[in-house]
Amino acid sequence: MSASARRRDDNGVDQHREVVVIGAGVSGIYAIKKLTDAGFDAHVVEADEDLGGTWYRNRYPGCRFDSESYTYGYSFSQELLDDWDWKERFSSQPENLRYLNFVADKFDLRRYMRFNTRVSRMIWDELRHRWDLTMEDGSSLSADFVVASLGPLSAPTLPQVPGMGDYEGVSFHSFNWPKEPLELAGRRVGVVGTGATGIQIIAEIADKVGELKVFQRRPNWSTPLNNAAIATEEMAEIRSRYLEIFAACAATPGGFEHQPRWGFWEQTPEQRQALWDKLYDMPGFAILAANFAEIFLDEEANREISDYVADRIRQRVDDAAVAEKLIPTDHGFGLQRLPLETNYFEVYNRDNVELIDISEDPIEAVTSTGLQTAAKQYDLDVIVYATGFDAITGTYDRIDIRGADGAVLADKWSDGPATYLGLLTAGFPNLLMVAGPQSVSGSTNFPRAIETGVEWVSGLLEHLKTQGITRVEAQEDAEQLWQSEVVRAHERLLLRRSKGWFTGYNANVAGHTDGVRYQAYFGGAPRYASRVGEVAANGYPGLDFKASTLGEGR
Ligand code: NAP
Repeated sequence: MSASARRRDDNGVDQHREVVVIGAGVSGIYAIKKLTDAGFDAHVVEADEDLGGTWYRNRYPGCRFDSESYTYGYSFSQELLDDWDWKERFSSQPENLRYLNFVADKFDLRRYMRFNTRVSRMIWDELRHRWDLTMEDGSSLSADFVVASLGPLSAPTLPQVPGMGDYEGVSFHSFNWPKEPLELAGRRVGVVGTGATGIQIIAEIADKVGELKVFQRRPNWSTPLNNAAIATEEMAEIRSRYLEIFAACAATPGGFEHQPRWGFWEQTPEQRQALWDKLYDMPGFAILAANFAEIFLDEEANREISDYVADRIRQRVDDAAVAEKLIPTDHGFGLQRLPLETNYFEVYNRDNVELIDISEDPIEAVTSTGLQTAAKQYDLDVIVYATGFDAITGTYDRIDIRGADGAVLADKWSDGPATYLGLLTAGFPNLLMVAGPQSVSGSTNFPRAIETGVEWVSGLLEHLKTQGITRVEAQEDAEQLWQSEVVRAHERLLLRRSKGWFTGYNANVAGHTDGVRYQAYFGGAPRYASRVGEVAANGYPGLDFKASTLGEGR
């Protein structure tokens, strides 16, 4: 490795590093901890002005975990587990950002981080076995290895509607909710989009704004979060169970404590309903993750749970016609990423809230005063676009990444990503991905999955260092085998036909509406951990290794 070939640039940052980590979010923070502990000369570059990734950006009202806080926190340090108290079962964004800062400060990680630094280009240097990175500000860095911790939901997308630039009020994507306080009292607010983000915003602001207009194209299934405060004694009890909690998360497909079950058809409809009555009132993803596994595989089972949840929506919305509009008809329950809510459906019983079904009355233009649908002009003071992300691959596509022989990563992935284990991609040596496409991170409790990814990447880099290897690349064959496994796991599930970011659907991104993009691995967290663990234990089959002939200082 060429740690010796270091010079300093104007920003006081070494131009060359053994490892550059891109992104200081949940995965980048753990990656830099793990790599520097292992003795690597590693550094983080982060586009934002501070650390936190998704929890730095998403400052919208109502933003909070939908994983139980104590299953979301890092598990790698007992001292950290001892020091941090979660105050709510589903902690809010400001607290989550405080937590990530607490972690960074506790382990003194900021000294490895450079902010306001967006990578715009990465070119592979085959001679030197290294990446040359150019930043948006024109500065540059090189690295023996790049660890991409870009985040699966960090490339926000806006609707393609005429007149977007004409609006004279305040408008932004939910990812860019202003940091400074935004006055909502008495104002006419429009929210476009009813995914997990829109649902959290709508429920939180409905009683704080003058008027709220919700522009919904397709409704999402949504069930109660059932949040609650965590008292001191409960936190002590949680702390005493941490080992057990993380072991339980490691053993379930979604990386949660909730235990899935089989036996849908062995129970009577009344017994199933009794279970669902219980799960509906339980915290978090219980109704999904502790439900019968058959609901994800069997159309009839899925129809029955969908009918059950539809009835719960009908019970909560006074106007029957509005209730019907809030019930999805194009996909069954749990077949797109399930948003969790707090009093969301009751919002539509308020006089100041109106649901506009833009599947029937589409938005035709943004005007200087608001949104113009086919039927009507809606004058608004604030427009929030909660319109989702170019998920999983979008953050990679934004960087001009050129690998061996000048291959462009965005071209390779234009019809969907191809990777080996979601960790490397053939043709792009020494690029390691945490929470990358076709890993389990997009489909499970995120931090549980990224700990697996970071530990695997760090283990690989240590192996390479010990062996004097300077170039590692996934083999095409191994990549194809992983692709088949990803496709098999995906096609087994009813979600294969749904249109959500899980399957790469996004009408705002060219080429993301036709056909499925196999972006996430749906084989479950335990299977994924054991697959990548086996590869490491067996000396990394599927990877090609080379040592540079240029020697130290290449
Ligand atoms: P999303 O689930 O992709 O939802 C985007 C919404 O915007 C959909 O309702 C979509 O309608 C609508 N939309 C997109 N383009 C539109 C257009 N041109 N015109 C009108 N409507 C448009 O995005 P998200 O709500 O930001 O959530 C993304 C993911 O982030 C979640 O699934 C979740 O994994 C994560 N998240 C997590 C939390 C949490 O942990 N608590 C909270 C928020 C988000 P269509 O469905 O018709 O396309």
